[in-house]
Amino acid sequence: MTQLLEGKTGLIMGVANKRSIAWGIANSVSKEGARLVLTYQNERLGENVRALAPQLNDPLLVQCDVSSDEQIQALMARIGGEAGGLDFIAHVLAFAPREALDGMYADTKRDDFRVALDISAYSLIAVARAALPLMKDRQAAIVTLTYLGAERVIQNYNVMGVAKAALEASVRYLANDLGPHGIRVNAISAGPIKTLASSAVGGISSMIKLHAERAPLRKQVDIDEVGDAALFLVSPLSRGISGEVIYVDGGYHILGV
Ligand code: NAD
Repeated sequence: MTQLLEGKTGLIMGVANKRSIAWGIANSVSKEGARLVLTYQNERLGENVRALAPQLNDPLLVQCDVSSDEQIQALMARIGGEAGGLDFIAHVLAFAPREALDGMYADTKRDDFRVALDISAYSLIAVARAALPLMKDRQAAIVTLTYLGAERVIQNYNVMGVAKAALEASVRYLANDLGPHGIRVNAISAGPIKTLASSAVGGISSMIKLHAERAPLRKQVDIDEVGDAALFLVSPLSRGISGEVIYVDGGYHILGV
């Protein structure tokens, strides 16, 4: 039987360990035949990624810290050299200093704001621009990860909510820029999941519990559910969708307070 992503090459950015949403996405797209490039932020996390990689179909592993334009350029040059082109990107990463993810948003420091917006929102622009020569005219797709804190005040999410709002707006502007090149850009707004990054948000465990109690589907979201939604968004099944935010949150966002 033909697989949805047979013959396609995908870049997955943001695997830190087996609990990472990026790892859920890597598994979903790999099962549908995609050949993968996985990036890791630094050598420490590279060890985790190297240990997980044998579960996939011989992925290319490349270190890339998205705060560096040089590393993003080098990544794309490497992919161009080894794969010739790129059919999809999953941008599944974010960062804000821990002290900015607790207490009052009004206390956010200038430097913490800059770092959060740079890593969590600007990096999507930098990656999309650098990947354009590899992706254009291939019916390619980009997907990124956001959270409800972009639209509503979620306790302790603070500057990350503002970064996600910038990310969601960037999805729309990038979708408009890249659409004429045949590239779609979408976001998944996932419900809370316990991961390395989410552990930095104050009170995450009680948020997950509350979500499971209240969401229409009455359960926690898991990385496989997000992975399958990302598979849809990078596959031809979603060929008419761009500039959209799709919720994978068990329906939580439809609730009133
Ligand atoms: P995670 O810790 O597994 O992944 C975050 C990744 O970001 C890590 O791999 C980390 O190395 C990477 N990263 C941070 N700074 C980087 C940099 N400078 N260069 C390159 N990579 C960098 O956590 P996760 O929860 O899987 O997060 C993935 C994405 O999902 C993030 O955008 C997060 O905001 C989003 N998200 C998470 C949840 C949740 O509850 N876990 C909900 C909605 C959205």
